[in-house]
Amino acid sequence: MCKEIERKLNQKKIAYDPNVLAKACDFAGKAHEGQKRATGDPYIAHPLAVAEILADMGMEFHTIIAALLHDTVEDTSISLDEIEKQFGKDIRSLVNGVTKLSEIEFSRQYQLESLTERQEMEVENFRKFFLAIAEDLRVVLIKLADRLHNLETLGAKSPASQKRVAQETLEIYVPLADRLGIGQLKVDLEDLAFRYFMPDEYQKVRLLVSEKIDDRKKNVNILQKSIPRLLTKNQIKVIKIEGRAKHFYSIYKKLKKSDGDIDKIYDLMAIRIIVPEESDCYKVLGVIHQQYKPLIYRIKDYIAVPKPNGYKSLHTTVFGLDGRITEIQIRTPKMHDEAEMGIAAHWHYNQSKSKIFSVFTRSSYAPKNDLEWVKQLAEAQKGFNDKELIENLKIDFFHNRIFIFSPKGNIFNLPEGATPIDFAYLVHTEIGNHYVGAKVNGKIVNLNYKLENRDIVEILTSPKAKPSRDWLNFVKTSGASQNIRSWFRKESREDNLKSGEETLVSKLKAVGLTLSDIDERILSFFNVKNTDDLFVLIGEGQITSRQVTNRILDPGTEKQKRPSKTKRTELVIKGTEGMPYRLAKCCQPCYGDKITGYVTQGQGITVHRTNCANIIRNNPNKLTEVSWQSGSAIYQIPILVKAKNRIGLLKDITYLLTDKKINIGSIKSKHEGDMTVIEMLIEIEKMVLLPIVINNLLGIKDVYEVKRLR
Ligand code: MN
Repeated sequence: MCKEIERKLNQKKIAYDPNVLAKACDFAGKAHEGQKRATGDPYIAHPLAVAEILADMGMEFHTIIAALLHDTVEDTSISLDEIEKQFGKDIRSLVNGVTKLSEIEFSRQYQLESLTERQEMEVENFRKFFLAIAEDLRVVLIKLADRLHNLETLGAKSPASQKRVAQETLEIYVPLADRLGIGQLKVDLEDLAFRYFMPDEYQKVRLLVSEKIDDRKKNVNILQKSIPRLLTKNQIKVIKIEGRAKHFYSIYKKLKKSDGDIDKIYDLMAIRIIVPEESDCYKVLGVIHQQYKPLIYRIKDYIAVPKPNGYKSLHTTVFGLDGRITEIQIRTPKMHDEAEMGIAAHWHYNQSKSKIFSVFTRSSYAPKNDLEWVKQLAEAQKGFNDKELIENLKIDFFHNRIFIFSPKGNIFNLPEGATPIDFAYLVHTEIGNHYVGAKVNGKIVNLNYKLENRDIVEILTSPKAKPSRDWLNFVKTSGASQNIRSWFRKESREDNLKSGEETLVSKLKAVGLTLSDIDERILSFFNVKNTDDLFVLIGEGQITSRQVTNRILDPGTEKQKRPSKTKRTELVIKGTEGMPYRLAKCCQPCYGDKITGYVTQGQGITVHRTNCANIIRNNPNKLTEVSWQSGSAIYQIPILVKAKNRIGLLKDITYLLTDKKINIGSIKSKHEGDMTVIEMLIEIEKMVLLPIVINNLLGIKDVYEVKRLR
């Protein structure tokens, strides 16, 4: 029964155990006994065909065995445990992967020709989900081969199911084969799916091509004879030269671009030249261009700049003998293998080391935004070494991502540990801002529920609901935390604006002024663009309404312009008369504190707080009167924060302060048991802000004590 598979394994020099192969064929045959395919064939024909496709691709032996068994668990009474008992753990996990993939179905039907950006993203998410569920690239390859054989026998199904399978193939399987660089499978899947998805267009293209192809073939035949002579004359060794017909779906796409004019499609037939070395490729190109005039804009160097999926070749299109145009592709055997087999090319058995596979070193993947994950995949595969090969086939580059569904079946991709709130903000900012709760798989869950792969999540909203600062402690995505922060920033701005306006209006009224007395001069004095910004400053307590009215009534009262936020001003102390001074370390006086200077010979003045124990004990003769220079200071205040240890605590504190535009002079933290003690020096412009800051810090989760030090 498995003679054909054996023949292919031998042909591809794949190491295998004939006993295990015979056992698997027999096992599958018995399991599917009596079952029939829609074509009327005995069911076993299908797993055999899938295994043959994979053997043709040169896949390693376990993949072949798993292909033979791939439908047993889903369609017969065989259990995974039984598979493991008979064939081992690796085969079990492959069969399990294929079975899991059979359970998922991409049921959304889109207009393939005109996907919106959002639909595009969703289809892309499904492809990633597909890979994540597969967990092993070999599972994906079995699934692709399975799909290919199902398409080959699709004629026996109803037109509706033909169309559904064909569309799913074009949306999911073809792009996956393409991304994995398996050109051979991609082309076969695509042409078969095209035939069932757009039967009329397919027939049209077939007819058009058949009218032209003989003519083109003639041209190709002539070139196929003349080129080898040309290359031999130039001492270039040729491994193979072949003519190949373009496949129908790509002709269909090209026809659409060229207004249906098939004469504008030059590569209905192409010539492929395979030469030993990369340098030979360029030599061939030169020799051909000497003889045949190229179409300049159609010379493509995919060796220097490979396609995103790793494809390498030189392409050129030339005027043949009688002026007919033909495309020529030039590549090495390695480039050819990789173009046809992609990732699978790297399974090819290496005869010098038994049971060891060649190392995957595809450095040519070009990073392109939307193909970023393909690059990740390639990177993940690079780590291959002989022993770890099978381990490295695991698709773990999605290990930190989960895939969840909306009740309508839309699929979303989130980082591991994400909560329903992250999901809500991913769907829409307004949904996040009005979140009241979530149902996961039909049940109400906690606010900080951690979503799991394949959860179906429904967000409950209410027009009156508002975000809570507490959310910042558990949301996982930067999108969610940014949205929450900006909501609060806006919200508090509006509050401050309103209260600032009220304060100022009543103050102005009290001194017989109105808002119309605030002119450009006043606005520029306070470093603001408009009256709204001025109200916000007053509301935030950064300036007082009295400062504003004073400024209007007597422009001379304040000589100094309010320092702009970005400029730090020096702390100036009156009474030091040009002597050097420093702030005492023992009591760390802050702007506003009562202070006394202590004169040390040769060292200038040390400024202490008046009630500092050190100063009280000292010689009163050495004390000198000092005071703060007003209006030019930034208060530096040491703060102590005690909190329960947790990850993200420091981040939360610094976020909060940064949010309030408070500079942190220094910060030190240490662990004491399960407690974190943080000492920091914060810099604020107004003392009145201190209690507000302390209060805010106390609002951070797990913080239980905040106080000013000394
Ligand atoms: Mn199958």
